Amino acid sequence: MKQSTFFVPTLRDTPSGADIISHQLMLRAGMMRQNAAGVYSFLPLGWKALRKVEQIVREEMDKAGAQEMFMPSIQPAELWKESGRWEAYGEELMRLKDRHGREFALGPTHEEVITSLVRDEVRSYKELPKMMYQIQTKFRDERRPRFGVLRGREFLMKDCYSFDRDFEGLDQSYMTMYEAYNNVFQRLHLNFRAVKADSGAMGGKDTHEFMVLSDIGEDTIAYSDGSDFAANIEIAPVNTVYSQSGEAREEMAKVHTPAAGSIDEVTAFLQTEASRCIKSMLFDVDGTLTLILVRGDHDVNEIKVKHELHAEHVELASEEQTKAALGTPPGFAGPVSISSDLPVHADHAVEAVVNGICGANEQDYHFQHVQPGRDFTVTAYGDFRTIQEGDPSPDGKGTIRFKEGIEVGHVFKLGTKYSEALGATYLNEQGRAAPIVMGSYGIGVSRTLAAVIEQHHDENGIVWPEDIAPFDVHVIAINAKQEEQLKLGEDIYEQLRRAGLDVLFDDRPERAGVKFKDADLIGIPVRIQVGKRAAEGIVEVKNRRTGEVRELSASEAVAELTGK
Ligand code: ATP
Ligand code: MG
Repeated sequence: MKQSTFFVPTLRDTPSGADIISHQLMLRAGMMRQNAAGVYSFLPLGWKALRKVEQIVREEMDKAGAQEMFMPSIQPAELWKESGRWEAYGEELMRLKDRHGREFALGPTHEEVITSLVRDEVRSYKELPKMMYQIQTKFRDERRPRFGVLRGREFLMKDCYSFDRDFEGLDQSYMTMYEAYNNVFQRLHLNFRAVKADSGAMGGKDTHEFMVLSDIGEDTIAYSDGSDFAANIEIAPVNTVYSQSGEAREEMAKVHTPAAGSIDEVTAFLQTEASRCIKSMLFDVDGTLTLILVRGDHDVNEIKVKHELHAEHVELASEEQTKAALGTPPGFAGPVSISSDLPVHADHAVEAVVNGICGANEQDYHFQHVQPGRDFTVTAYGDFRTIQEGDPSPDGKGTIRFKEGIEVGHVFKLGTKYSEALGATYLNEQGRAAPIVMGSYGIGVSRTLAAVIEQHHDENGIVWPEDIAPFDVHVIAINAKQEEQLKLGEDIYEQLRRAGLDVLFDDRPERAGVKFKDADLIGIPVRIQVGKRAAEGIVEVKNRRTGEVRELSASEAVAELTGK
């Protein structure tokens, strides 16, 4: 590709609104442009890199025995109603109507479509197991699209689905995919971890997320410093054992706490510790208002609330809902003397609080010396809080530490959730109908590309690992107005191309500084710089990663790169 004709609009300056390095570099290197919030065009350079990632994913899927296919983005609402996700998916599901008023979803994932295909075609145990995948555009109306293609509303995903006769079969398919994912992310030169994750209220049991370690990651990984335990903090169980202090239990008393609506304000005002406070938050749990209590130094974990209460939807109640139910704004909510219709669920840590402090359900007032069980009733105790650094590891070995991560892949045992909902059964060896046992496996291909850049760049631009680089070699005629330089550059370009290499040739009549800056930004691993010594047939070979420059004859350089 000649750079003079290549559509690669590089930028000198950091575009405003791009907060993270991969987003900045993808814009600056002319890889992509934004069309709307969370919606991007991949320009030729970006597309080439994306295709490289896609190819590695494809090869590993094929090797694992999955078969590539292609399903539509437009999916009939009926399928989503059959699975129950037309409602459950909520506002993230993009919906549309055709000219006849029929409803459709723009696929955020394809369990419904593939299950219906398999349901209609697979009859017998002899046709199982099967594993199919596609690499396709997905649509999700994310609440907060951000960080470029890391969280888009239209993005490229590889989604794979396995169909087995039984759970043992699923375990095997899952292991096969788990290994394939390890291969993919290793080949992409990513520093990653597979961590236990949230399987949702109605999903199957096992699920792992593949996390690229990165400070800008939106997920936090809780790992043990004393074992190989690693889990998303969304689900990492807390099994700390709490003991009550022996102090004398005092009588509950109301205290005036003007404008102290947060834990920090209350502890500052009453000169006490957060661990003595009982944080009370009202949630809408599948339409039932429920008070959740955690200790003041802990955070409510909504996913755990969902799991513990077997709910589908958990949302913090609005200020109006809180006022209507408790007669107070959220900062002063508490469990004392509330309506017995209101369920109260508390984290285990709350049970051990002695002489606690909680909101008095009255603006600017708290109760102190509160004793759980004596002064208020708890419907049930459970694990409702997010794990913290310093907590004991749930496997009993070591202490919990945190790292940030970007979720690039997700493997998931679905079990029979979709096959039962959509009636996908097969006849087993005994001739009886049984639901097909499924797994689902996703990789965010465009997100992964951004994650690669997060981990492979320097202050001058992208530093592509060889297998993902959009071009193999960048030939630069430093002064393209000099006939010998242009000619020798072109010559090398042609020879490398004939040898099957993908080459970008900078033949533009630009200043050397501009060319070098662009080359650094674009980050192709090997650069051949044709400059002043072109007349002698001497060029410079520069390694983008190390910065090392060697002078070689043009023929030596070509021989080295083509392996001839
Ligand atoms: P997240 O928690 O980041 O929203 P998710 O759990 O919704 O991810 P899955 O439904 O498991 O994601 O989708 C499979 C993969 O698709 C994810 O592992 C991720 O790499 C990618 N992905 C999900 N949402 C987006 C998005 N909005 N933009 C880009 N990639 C995404
Ligand atoms: Mg999501």
